[in-house]
Amino acid sequence: MHASRADARELRSFALSQQRTIMNDHRRLGRELGIFDTDPLIGSGLPYWLPAGAAVRKAVEDYVHELERRHGYQHVNSPVLGKRELYERSGHWAHYAEDMFPPMKVGGEEFVLRPSLCPHHALVYRSRGRIRRELPLRIAELGGMYRSELSGVLGGLTRVRAIQLNDGHVFCAPEQAASEVSLALDLIEAAHAQLGIRAARYRLSLRGDGAKFVDDPDLWRRSEAVLREVLAERGCDVEEERGEGAFYGPKIDIQITDPAGRETTLSTVQVDFFQPERFDLRYADSDGVGRPVMVHRSVIGGIERLVAHLVEVHGGAFPAWMAPVQAVVLPVSDAEGAAADALLRRCLAAGLRAESAPADRGSLGARIRAHRLVPYQLVVGAREAASGGASVRMRDGRQVGDVPVEALAAEARPRF
Ligand SMILES: [Zn+2]
Repeated sequence: MHASRADARELRSFALSQQRTIMNDHRRLGRELGIFDTDPLIGSGLPYWLPAGAAVRKAVEDYVHELERRHGYQHVNSPVLGKRELYERSGHWAHYAEDMFPPMKVGGEEFVLRPSLCPHHALVYRSRGRIRRELPLRIAELGGMYRSELSGVLGGLTRVRAIQLNDGHVFCAPEQAASEVSLALDLIEAAHAQLGIRAARYRLSLRGDGAKFVDDPDLWRRSEAVLREVLAERGCDVEEERGEGAFYGPKIDIQITDPAGRETTLSTVQVDFFQPERFDLRYADSDGVGRPVMVHRSVIGGIERLVAHLVEVHGGAFPAWMAPVQAVVLPVSDAEGAAADALLRRCLAAGLRAESAPADRGSLGARIRAHRLVPYQLVVGAREAASGGASVRMRDGRQVGDVPVEALAAEARPRF
């Protein structure tokens, strides 16, 4: 039997997609590019970041921090663990315990690695009396959270036990909730554009059956209504999925896919009437006392999953603003060594992440190939050495002449 032409085509496209999957798998690329690694002595699901990965991560973290600041967020820091009573109060203990690490006994108390940042932020809100006029109060934190995943499902940066989460909570009056959800979606869309990410789809994640979800139909109806209103207003194409909501409320999940077609959630916005009730959050109003709504939102999700996705999307050729090395200085021969050293110092002083590849590391062509992922390649020949400049070659091969390092540094900043 001969395979039909359609079969052959299908086979070929399957082989191609497999190849792409292997080519851009973040686990392979991540090791090759020096992004991250793991060690059995630390444990599975607990990757550590190598210098290139730490540089990408810091660039992304700084960008999101600044984006949030420009959108009216105040940043806080809170501890990565709390007393068991905190999670009993928040509802995690009743609805989420199986994903949490077991408590640690210290003296007469029990502490738990936190499964989310929400309870700490509810306490930040409660740290002093609040008045209606100061709402919406937007607070954000890049903080650690922990999930007791089984070792069988762990891998690379996508399934980990320790997550650095970009989290934020907006405490607002009920009538402000819809506009705050919409603002959070604006923020997410702006960040995705800057990061070069395309969402696969928007998902409205609803409650399912069973004890994993708070049993309060009125609460779910109210929070779903807010999310549906915003999605309709924005004309979002959205698919509903039962059983994917948070235990305390529905979510808008922004889904991404990896090169193998597997889908995961990156960004999320949630409306929560439950935790404000549990923590008895209040604000003083002209006609008495009000109960705020919590809008939970994560612009980029966990930094581990995000960087895994960025590695796969960009194949290691990161946009200049997040590239681990933004500029490489390439003296043509040993004679330009001193000029190249001076240029490298100017690059570093201008704020660029830069390194040099001296002439003893091989021919100019070989050194350019070895640094093909670096956005700016600064070649220093005799003429450039005399003038103190460089002949700038872009990653895609374009020659742009002598561009001052300050101009390159300005170009290599994220846009807001
Ligand atoms: Zn939250």
